[in-house]
Amino acid sequence: MLCDAISKLLMGEMVCQAVMEMIVAFDFDGTLVDSYSCIEEAFRRALEKHFHWLPFKGFWAKVLAKIELYFERPHFGKHGGKVRQPFFFRWHFFRTWFEERAKLSKPIDNAKELIRKLKEQGHTVISFSAEDFIDGMKEHRLKVSGFYELFDDVIVFGRELSICEAFWLVREKYGDETFVWVDDKPWRFIGRGDENTEYVWYYFPLTAKYVKEKILNQIPHLHVIQDLWSIFDVIERIKQEKKT
Ligand SMILES: [Mg+2]
Repeated sequence: MLCDAISKLLMGEMVCQAVMEMIVAFDFDGTLVDSYSCIEEAFRRALEKHFHWLPFKGFWAKVLAKIELYFERPHFGKHGGKVRQPFFFRWHFFRTWFEERAKLSKPIDNAKELIRKLKEQGHTVISFSAEDFIDGMKEHRLKVSGFYELFDDVIVFGRELSICEAFWLVREKYGDETFVWVDDKPWRFIGRGDENTEYVWYYFPLTAKYVKEKILNQIPHLHVIQDLWSIFDVIERIKQEKKT
């Protein structure tokens, strides 16, 4: 009898743990890698390669970096629909810029180890980010940086898929487990996800300056972290909340 009771309890615990496995989705730029600090240097290198004759390359790189950062603002980063590749991004110059940017990007907070640890704990870890201005470039950069093969799945929205379609694709493929969505641009969360979505804003200083109170007020189940490893505290907190 006692044995039965103990085994039932253990089974219960196991079922409970299985239920608590989550889908953890990570954005890429500004969340897993710092690909912002190097934007200007990547432009300088691209100018060096394609416009060697151009004077004041440092100045032009600064101007181009400012323009690029302008497109990082909330108004542009919503990915509600499907955006076509702008024609000028077909120029070799921009491909070189992205490639130089990929080479110069650095992982944040030992992010690769973090992904491995989350998977060890049984979570499904996916890459969930927006396409770059050049088709296929996000996948290419994920591969170059050594992140691609760490994920259980890689989902890129913004071109073929809108952000909402991408979310429902995850639901279709991986079920209704808690979806923990980590991104440095919290305005993407507004009106997206479902009841069982937990939103984690990773505070990345270079994009955090665009975050306003009125954006955060529109997001339910919001968690804020300044260190990627705090995701484990968030997961623990969610587990506790769901138990009660
Ligand atoms: Mg980002």
